[in-house]
Amino acid sequence: MKQYLKNTWIALYTIFVGMKVTFKHLFEPAVTIQYPDVKPPLPERARNRLHVNIDDCIGCNQCMRACPADCIDIETVRAVPGDEVGTTSGGQKKSLWVTKFNIDIAKCCFCQLCVFPCPTECIYMTDVYEYSEYKRDNLVYQFSALTPEEVTEKKEKFEVFMAEKEAAKLAAAKAKAEAAAKAAAEKKQAETKKAEPKKEDSNDSKENKTEQ
Ligand code: SF4
Ligand code: SF4
Repeated sequence: MKQYLKNTWIALYTIFVGMKVTFKHLFEPAVTIQYPDVKPPLPERARNRLHVNIDDCIGCNQCMRACPADCIDIETVRAVPGDEVGTTSGGQKKSLWVTKFNIDIAKCCFCQLCVFPCPTECIYMTDVYEYSEYKRDNLVYQFSALTPEEVTEKKEKFEVFMAEKEAAKLAAAKAKAEAAAKAAAEKKQAETKKAEPKKEDSNDSKENKTEQ
């Protein structure tokens, strides 16, 4: 009986101690938040998901070269005469089509080294940190604004332009070589003509000597 009463007292005492802690927190301000409905404020320079304002990208590749994790993949195509690529918000004229601008955020170590060298400040960290995916492929973000058809068109246009440029270069070289050959032939002809009267003169003088 004595042991029974002792056990009952210990049980009641531990419940009282536990409830004392609970009741104490009932009257204190809450420190938890209702995430994800309520988001915690982030530090000003927090590094999260990258974003590229592709309208301002000039395709200089500086971010790609700076990335230590090799997670930026950029491909550009030079604009041909007549193409209008546009200008950046800072007024810089663009001369390259950015046909591919992928960031594999799964590889990113959030070092921010790609952000600093950008001359137009168009690649930057955002406050987005909820982007988990079931497939790794979904973590490759594509920023190019061109459709696959437009990319093919730009590439074909550039190839045609280069082919025409090469053909014009070859034609100019051929014309130059022909002109040089013609000039050399004319020079040789002129020299031959000059040499002929001298020969005749020397023949005449020989004949005169024999007669004497
Ligand atoms: S933050 Fe660092 S690792 Fe991530 S893309 Fe930029 S340079 Fe590469
Ligand atoms: S450094 Fe800036 S402008 Fe140059 S390719 Fe990267 S994002 Fe574009």
